[in-house]
Amino acid sequence: MSLDLGRLSENLEQVRTRIDQAAARVQRNPADIRLMGVTKTLPQEIVQLGREAGLNLFGENRVQEAQSKYSSFVGSPDLELHLIGHLQRNKAKIAVSLFSCVQSIDKLQTAEALNRHCAELGRTMDILLELNTSGEATKFGFPSAEDLWRDCGDIAGLEHLRIRGVMTVGPFTSDTDRVRRAFADLRECLEGLRKRYMELPLDTLSMGMSGDFEIAIEEGANLIRLGTILFGPRDTSAGTHG
Ligand SMILES: *Cc1c(COP(=O)(O)O)cnc(C)c1O
Repeated sequence: MSLDLGRLSENLEQVRTRIDQAAARVQRNPADIRLMGVTKTLPQEIVQLGREAGLNLFGENRVQEAQSKYSSFVGSPDLELHLIGHLQRNKAKIAVSLFSCVQSIDKLQTAEALNRHCAELGRTMDILLELNTSGEATKFGFPSAEDLWRDCGDIAGLEHLRIRGVMTVGPFTSDTDRVRRAFADLRECLEGLRKRYMELPLDTLSMGMSGDFEIAIEEGANLIRLGTILFGPRDTSAGTHG
């Protein structure tokens, strides 16, 4: 492992400077922007290192990988773990025991499965609704804001889930106008949701990764999800968005 605490702290400091600068460009308070460390494909030591460097919010995109990596941390008051990858219904039970938030809800049925297992454990869980803003068929998420708004009504009726906002993975392209458009679409999706469901605690706009977090902040993101820029490149053969 080539990453050590000094190096990670340096990376974090540089990222925080860029967050500050992006926020300043649009007159936002950088303290309103939460920084998630995405540890998918990385070993457990990286989680420990991240905690020592001051991170308290982590993201994983596979349930089983998260289970083997984070089981010993579950219940730690200073560590929050979110699922940011697609959730299969048959993994919903494990997901409830591991994550405080599932950011990737894109189907009523998945939400129903999660709600059922939450009910069994007598707990409530935060969720975000994922929008596919890129139009890329390989990406998950509700295909349109209209679909998301419609199903939100049924999902909001599930007693053990609390809808906190929306998330997206931006298009993978160097065309920054397209990336910005996708993030603006997600912001507008959240605004539309707030108008339709005024009773919901809709405070989270999760968008922006290593390559596009500054654009996301300029478009209103208050939760950015960073892997590579903090921890270094991943072994790409291990998958990304599965
Ligand atoms: C992998 C991943 C990230 C982090 O990606 P980086 O480009 O390494 O910062 C963020 N969000 C999701 C959903 C991911 O799968």
